[in-house]
Amino acid sequence: MDTMALRNLSCGLFIAGARDGGRLTGCTVNSVMQVTSDPVMISVCVNHKNFTNQCIRDSGGFSVSILSEDAAGEVIGVFGFHSGRDTDKFASIPCDKTAMGFPVLRLGVCGWLECSLESFTELPTHTMFIGRLTDAKTSPGSPMTYAYYHRVIKGKTPVNAPTYEKPLEGLWTCPLCGYQYDGSAGPFEGLPESWTCPICGQPKNAFRTS
Ligand code: FE
Repeated sequence: MDTMALRNLSCGLFIAGARDGGRLTGCTVNSVMQVTSDPVMISVCVNHKNFTNQCIRDSGGFSVSILSEDAAGEVIGVFGFHSGRDTDKFASIPCDKTAMGFPVLRLGVCGWLECSLESFTELPTHTMFIGRLTDAKTSPGSPMTYAYYHRVIKGKTPVNAPTYEKPLEGLWTCPLCGYQYDGSAGPFEGLPESWTCPICGQPKNAFRTS
């Protein structure tokens, strides 16, 4: 089976947002799609282990911030590789609130959606939430496709994502986001000590090799 075919399924990179009581939270997701047009219904898959999963149920809906190609690495690092259980993810990320009180990112996005929860289906690792579109807004920018994230930004996938792939052995790897240095700027050892992970900002001395 050639699982590289899965890379040819086009998808994007998004922040699913919800409320934890009065606190805002969210996580990175890549499986968001419009599943019907009248009414407009949106599906999103969130891992059972993600704190946002329970928050979507409790808050009766969710938001989707559509990341653009200029999204800051900090956004991908904070939302993809930290847990909302112990991190106030929106403390350092500028955001607005939708009418239902869900967070949407102000920068590095080309639009957002707000949905009320209609139903959900439990899958082995994830919950597929179906929401009815209640509001939406666009802003300038090109959407960040998952292919762009992999090929241009060289980003990796969190363990909890449906598309997670095991890292290659023998490469210097970021312990937080899984980014693997490809040697394009010379040997890893020769990089300045001020060098940081281009995806999530971890320092050079945090990197490990197997
Ligand atoms: Fe990193």
